[in-house]
Amino acid sequence: MAKEPGRVLKPFNSSSGPDIISPVKPGTALLQAKENTSTCAQPERKQWCLQDFDIGRPLGKGKFGNVYLAREKSTKYVVAIKVLFKSQLQKAGVEHQLRREIEIQSHLSHPHILRLFQYFHDKTRVYLVLEYAPKGELYKELMKNTRFDEKRTATYMYQMTSALLYCHSKKVIHRDIKPENLLLGLTGDLKIADFGWSVHAPSSRRTTLCGTLDYLPPEMIEGKLHDEKVDLWSLGVLCYEFLVGKPPFEAETNSDTYRRITKVDLQFPPYVSHPARNLISMLLKHDPSQRITLEKVLEHPWIKENQRPAAP
Ligand code: ATP
Ligand code: MG
Repeated sequence: MAKEPGRVLKPFNSSSGPDIISPVKPGTALLQAKENTSTCAQPERKQWCLQDFDIGRPLGKGKFGNVYLAREKSTKYVVAIKVLFKSQLQKAGVEHQLRREIEIQSHLSHPHILRLFQYFHDKTRVYLVLEYAPKGELYKELMKNTRFDEKRTATYMYQMTSALLYCHSKKVIHRDIKPENLLLGLTGDLKIADFGWSVHAPSSRRTTLCGTLDYLPPEMIEGKLHDEKVDLWSLGVLCYEFLVGKPPFEAETNSDTYRRITKVDLQFPPYVSHPARNLISMLLKHDPSQRITLEKVLEHPWIKENQRPAAP
């Protein structure tokens, strides 16, 4: 994916996650259909394989391979298939990270979290069968619009918050919330994707920083033990970026961003309303325990007044 420089890089994670990958339990229409029609090498495990799909146009390019539109042959169910090259995963030493991503994302089912239906692999590649997000990347929308109005931002914030409440109830912290990791469904509703950096809370998992710091909370920059409250900080950064068009602590160099984050050097352009400033300031607290809770975000007057309820 061509993105602006500095946004492509992510913190490099040095430790490994759980070793087990458990296949997704049948439960969706797609997977149930598979139970009756398995044709692949391991029918007893109801495992998919590439021959089960018609592959369509490329949807995007990832770091370790491409994402394609695809349709399951027997049900005609449309999905996105992410193809990852094992050699590239190995070279970058991220197999454990992928295992964790699969393990975590396959157990999450929420309207604002991109579903991971199944995975399979062959000699050279790993395939992730994902929910298709027809309206693509939210980041592109933001670039097109420069910034979002308060109603649109509050609607995304409501959807993000309800998805994070669900994750946190399962002790999953996402840790990599930013517009590039958000996709849009058919009705323009938000879908959190990319659980590559997610972990089970609490964590002291170390991150070596080699990319943008913009969304990282002070406790992660400072290498402290952190918990699900890191996602509250990133939610505040996201809200600011939606309303202003750039993240709040942006600076010329990483060390300047670092300084601005640890000092919580927060300034608003004049057009940001006071209720919106209030919510952002309550999320961007240096002390994680002082941050507003997700429950209270949903109840915040600015959110309540501005968010558009989902279409029936
Ligand atoms: P990077 O780390 O550079 O973001 P990645 O390996 O995480 O790459 P993805 O971001 O998952 O790869 O996918 C690359 C692109 O493919 C996305 O930016 C998006 O445009 C598109 N894409 C991925 N998954 C889907 C999906 N489920 N529905 C629609 N488009 C998708
Ligand atoms: Mg991505």
